[in-house]
Amino acid sequence: DRLVSGSAENEEQYLELSLRPQRLSQYIGQDKVKENLDIFIQAAKMRGETLDHVLLYGPPGLGKTTLAAIIANEMGVNLRTTSGPAIERPGDLAAILTALEPGDVLFIDEIHRLHRSIEEVLYPAMEDFCLDIVIGKGPEARSVRLDLPPFTLVGATTRVGLLTAPLRDRFGVLSRLEYYRESELSEIVERTADILQIGIDPHASAEISRRSRGTPRIANRLLRRVRDFAQVLGKEAISEELSSEALERLQVDRLGLDHIDHKLLTGIIEKYRGGPVGLDTISATIGEESHTIEDVYEPYLLQIGFLQRTSRGRMVTDAVYRHFNLEVPEHD
Ligand code: ADP
Repeated sequence: DRLVSGSAENEEQYLELSLRPQRLSQYIGQDKVKENLDIFIQAAKMRGETLDHVLLYGPPGLGKTTLAAIIANEMGVNLRTTSGPAIERPGDLAAILTALEPGDVLFIDEIHRLHRSIEEVLYPAMEDFCLDIVIGKGPEARSVRLDLPPFTLVGATTRVGLLTAPLRDRFGVLSRLEYYRESELSEIVERTADILQIGIDPHASAEISRRSRGTPRIANRLLRRVRDFAQVLGKEAISEELSSEALERLQVDRLGLDHIDHKLLTGIIEKYRGGPVGLDTISATIGEESHTIEDVYEPYLLQIGFLQRTSRGRMVTDAVYRHFNLEVPEHD
């Protein structure tokens, strides 16, 4: 498992439950998204209606699942959770939908992975709160329309571009989550340290935040690993010195890059003079699937301005040479 991956490790999902903020006011950062949701939630409550369907998109670990749970909490309704790949047949979705209570929030993670035939069941459900099901087979088959309780669908995806237009259009609220600022991550780290009952020096939380790739999940994970060092060394709090040493040992550099990022970036420099080089070529060079590079490795490198996408392929920027203490090449 990659320490700086935004995706949740298996054992982490349980740990994370206790770290999740419960209310909108405890959710740190993403101010625009939060302000809008706050208004939509208040308005829906004043009218006594369910909240419009919400689509949350952005890289893994930025707080989409957390926000879905907060929406349910703020609306005072139940949260039902499932995911695109978990719904295998239209009947699976029908079973979930018919079990909802009025006003419930249905959260579908990785909604871009829903099968097309299942999406089609979702359209009338989202639009008219009803379900068209076919009963019987062959000439006997007929379609029956079932009413559903009104509900709010909260969909989450890391790949909004893969959503079909008809599905995307049925969401009333589309919110894009951004990478967090360092100060926001520090706040999250300090809140988590509090829950884990360990003291932390502000310099230490800042250091952890800097290396967390703008991602709360990574910040919380690095904090837990640093806490392990503190525990073994018999320290009651995480000092600046201890966090630096622990982070050094974890081999996450001061920008949150690990050996895979190093391999990718230095590979482009050494083999292709900094690029441009096509994604498939990079993929063959470092032995990773192109879509993994595109979905997992690249977004943060693009965000910090280390990679550029051009029509002729990927290029590293001068900042990369400086980061690795290499001579910056002359440009024509
Ligand atoms: P996603 O669904 O986008 O992958 P999650 O909602 O599972 O991300 O968030 C991952 C972890 O990060 C959660 O355990 C949560 O505690 C923490 N987290 C995410 N966003 C925030 C936030 N805005 N404030 C505090 N903690 C957060």
